[in-house]
Amino acid sequence: MERLEFECPATGQEVDVGIESEIGTLLRIRMNKLRARCPACGQVHEWMVRDAHLKKAA
Ligand SMILES: [Zn+2]
Repeated sequence: MERLEFECPATGQEVDVGIESEIGTLLRIRMNKLRARCPACGQVHEWMVRDAHLKKAA
């Protein structure tokens, strides 16, 4: 499983929004938008899946 991290547009911080997915799924949905509450600034942001930075989940 890959763990998705995005860059918070408000703080520029890398945030882990708690989403894990298989790489195959990610490639299929890379043009999708994803909304999640940002742990860095507390706002809800919309990111493109393809903008995610991947981190290997343990
Ligand atoms: Zn944010």
